[in-house]
Amino acid sequence: MRPLLFEIGSTGRRGTSLPALEFPRKEVSSFLPFHLLRKNPPELPEVSELDVVRHYTSLSKKNFSVDANFYPLGSCTMKYNPKVNEDVVKQIGFLNLHPYQEEETVQGVLELLYNLEKILCEIVGVDEFCLQPAAGAQGEFTGLLIMHAYHSDRGNPRKKILVPDSSHGTNPASAALCGYEVIQVKSNARGRVDLDELRRLLDQNVAGMMLTNPNTLGLFEDEVSEIAKLVHEVEGLLYYDGANLNPLLGMARPGDMGFDIVHLNTHKTFSTPHGGGGPGAGPVGVKKFLSKYLPTPRIVQEKELFRIKHDFPKSVGKLTAFYGNTGVLLRAYAYIRSLGREGLLRTGQHAILNANYLLKGLKTFYEVAYPEMCMHEFVLTATRQKEKGVRALDIAKRLIDFGIHPPTIYFPLIVPEAMMIEPTETESRQTLDHFIEVMKTIAKEVEENPTLFRQAPMSAPVRRLDEVWAARHPVLKWEKKKRDEIPVASYSA
Ligand SMILES: *Cc1c(COP(=O)(O)O)cnc(C)c1O
Repeated sequence: MRPLLFEIGSTGRRGTSLPALEFPRKEVSSFLPFHLLRKNPPELPEVSELDVVRHYTSLSKKNFSVDANFYPLGSCTMKYNPKVNEDVVKQIGFLNLHPYQEEETVQGVLELLYNLEKILCEIVGVDEFCLQPAAGAQGEFTGLLIMHAYHSDRGNPRKKILVPDSSHGTNPASAALCGYEVIQVKSNARGRVDLDELRRLLDQNVAGMMLTNPNTLGLFEDEVSEIAKLVHEVEGLLYYDGANLNPLLGMARPGDMGFDIVHLNTHKTFSTPHGGGGPGAGPVGVKKFLSKYLPTPRIVQEKELFRIKHDFPKSVGKLTAFYGNTGVLLRAYAYIRSLGREGLLRTGQHAILNANYLLKGLKTFYEVAYPEMCMHEFVLTATRQKEKGVRALDIAKRLIDFGIHPPTIYFPLIVPEAMMIEPTETESRQTLDHFIEVMKTIAKEVEENPTLFRQAPMSAPVRRLDEVWAARHPVLKWEKKKRDEIPVASYSA
């Protein structure tokens, strides 16, 4: 097992040497109150630069990443992030920006963000965008605050939000966080919103409905116009969860389908690195009649200058620091501008083509939850394999042995033993063929040697984790003694 950073190095070893002090030396105790002073020195690792480089490089090699492995994690759109985006954000003018600078000195980045808002309006078919929310989930929360503000202004904030039973977990969570009662709408036999059920649930107390299109089964909600009509008939609003915008790029616009509020996940659709909790961006766009509720501050153009304006009395307020995760937004801008209208259209088309190529290649070996042409992703169900005692989780773990990141499993919740596969447009035909071969091999292993799966993964740095043990005995603070107590079976490296 690789030692922790705390366990390497030795007393007095340094990674940096500071220049000689130019000012008279002063003890910390002379300017900090006594109760804030440490009793003991901090227990920080004392390591050289080389120690640090080796440590983190070797850890990074144990990880899966889009740059190193095929990553068909459904719903997450793990596409390749072009390196030109990194060149853009590393320009010195962007690197040295400070959020407290005077507007006059940051005109360039304000103009760029302003233009990005306009571009997103065009792509999505809405009137105004705000780039502030830091992720899709925060975008949902923002959108629901906007719904709440809109209905409150009309005299009744309303009580209920409708979400399909195939929805992403963040949808009901955001609605609940906003104080709404969450009402689930059943899917029909075609994996779409059941319109009869929807009609039954809609009333004057429904603030709105959240919908992902294509939905999380990878199917286009082909009755979306009727859904929009029904929701609008009770004067509710229709919210677009934009996590699955990728296949629609340049082809269809949520605004034209009748959605009133949308969020985008720029880190998914517009290629900024994500996963592991890194920064994202969840811009929110609205139709004109809702624009006064968007978060502040907003970027406005006044004469020749771009200004950061706070004074919007109807706004739902500030969602995150300053103007959002600018570095992520710059990457999204670079991505969109480098592809252009034509390139974005091809992005969506190739995402659909790649997914259907995989679907066709895999459907002989695995059951397909909804066997029809899909959009950018599709859902397999490991029911056939389960009869042999092998579950979706086991197949996911076995894929790691073949150097492939597992698909999303057990989501959407309405599909038993779900395996949700999204290849994205950036994968070549060779990679897709290789994946089909691997999945075929695994299907054969299930038939011939199902017990093998109990041990998978066998070649990964970390073997099968005992997730129940981990959940019951969380080790949140590093202590050598505690670490030694972890049973080898649940943690073997
Ligand atoms: C990823 C995702 C979200 C949440 O977005 P984050 O940016 O991870 O907060 C919401 N809905 C769907 C369908 C998603 O795939």
